[in-house]
Amino acid sequence: MKILFAASEAYPLVKTGGLGDVIHALPRALHQQGVDVRIILPAYRLVLEQISNLRIAGWLQVQGAGRLHEIRILETTDQRLGVPLLLVDAPNLFDRPGSPYLHPDGYNWHDNAERFSVFSRAVAQVASSTGMLDWKPDVVHAHDWQTGLLPAFLKLIPDAPASVYTIHNLSYSGIFSHEEFAQLHLPGEWWSADALEFFGNFSMLKGGIIFADKVTTVSPTYAREIQTPGFGYGFDGVLRSHDHKLRGILNGIDQEIWNPATDPHLPHHYSLKYHYLAGKRNNKKALLKQLGVELKDEQLHTPLLGFIGRLVEQKGVDLLLQIIPHILDNHDVRLVILGSGEKHFENALRELAALYPQRLLLTLGYSEELAHRIEAGADLFLMPSRFEPCGLNQMYSLRYGTPPLVHQVGGLADTVVDATQENLKNNTATGFVFYEPSTGAMLHAIERALDLYKKPASWHKLMRTAMAQDFGWNKSANEYIRLYEEVGK
Ligand code: ADP
Repeated sequence: MKILFAASEAYPLVKTGGLGDVIHALPRALHQQGVDVRIILPAYRLVLEQISNLRIAGWLQVQGAGRLHEIRILETTDQRLGVPLLLVDAPNLFDRPGSPYLHPDGYNWHDNAERFSVFSRAVAQVASSTGMLDWKPDVVHAHDWQTGLLPAFLKLIPDAPASVYTIHNLSYSGIFSHEEFAQLHLPGEWWSADALEFFGNFSMLKGGIIFADKVTTVSPTYAREIQTPGFGYGFDGVLRSHDHKLRGILNGIDQEIWNPATDPHLPHHYSLKYHYLAGKRNNKKALLKQLGVELKDEQLHTPLLGFIGRLVEQKGVDLLLQIIPHILDNHDVRLVILGSGEKHFENALRELAALYPQRLLLTLGYSEELAHRIEAGADLFLMPSRFEPCGLNQMYSLRYGTPPLVHQVGGLADTVVDATQENLKNNTATGFVFYEPSTGAMLHAIERALDLYKKPASWHKLMRTAMAQDFGWNKSANEYIRLYEEVGK
């Protein structure tokens, strides 16, 4: 089975978020199961600078916005990716400084519609030609709005491969104007509510939903949620009418990078089999010390709550802000927060941290190392997201023996089992779940967690069940293989 992954990012070459991680881990997992996978990316300057041994596979002429682009297709193998890499080299679109989508001054590139439609057109041509690569995929797997037009372009080419389209976050949907639609020479019949048109503009993501043979998203619950007005960002109707081809497949985590037994960021290693209680206690002590709180061993029983994430409304930061005074005024706990994002959230957290010195331990910024140390050192991990396509932190927390406390949405609902009496008794509980995005519901869940924390035998059992969960990529890779087999023949 031959699969071509088309995306706008792949870790470690270029990454702005979770998409980049998936385009690293999933192709590797598929490759290990014997699938012949290649990745195709735009030849950003940043990527070209990191790669040697490029070979020119061929040339294409591709329609852009009122002009044709002369494009080279480059081929290479890069150890870090683990599968062959192809690049769409259109220097006047991609040989630029900065991130894949933004000018170095922080605004979107003015020609993003052209950049990603040219990329998608080029990939459709490469994937459908037998001459250029001596390798024709059975399935093209496209990801997020940047490649939403790819399944549509494939439908214009006779004998083109089948397509699978994955939505990683529906709130970014590649919306552009009618003027851009016309400049790109897209087929006129695509300007229709049954195709790309979207409330007076057009959406590239909608192209993926309409034209792909299968559509997936990154958790089963999110696949259901996005078919409702509350989570659908205006696409719920079109998703409902295509629900026969929509499936939710949970993302995995990298269990080598996120492994408390070997994690190079941790001062103390531990595992389910090897001193997990002492390991976590020592990491907690070290974490607190790093954040300016020096405690004696007998003072370490005070629960430490953790939060890591982008400080945006999606992550439930408004709920967090409202509950902080309640929990710090009424309970003997500490809270460690690592995040960066919207300035008003950063300022509000800063003000609270000044009110609760030594108890609200705030770090504004991005730190991979501190994130690992919080996962290991905290007792309870807070994830009150308002929506969460999959979410990674709750899975890291489970693996590090830090029961997550989550709002029951998206991937959080699919990965955390609430510590009810019954679930505790039958050894399935792994964390705490609340069912509506309100401070009352979240506080109630925190109080349940703090009560259980006072019962060490039950708490340790919860930690052990959490640590025993397997969220590696193999299971998801197998689900994708079944999907490719359904469409690729
Ligand atoms: P999203 O992709 O919506 O931001 P996820 O939970 O899927 O949320 O993944 C976020 C990833 O980014 C996690 O690995 C998390 O630890 C990391 N992360 C987010 N903010 C920070 C930060 N300030 N410092 C370090 N890591 C962070």
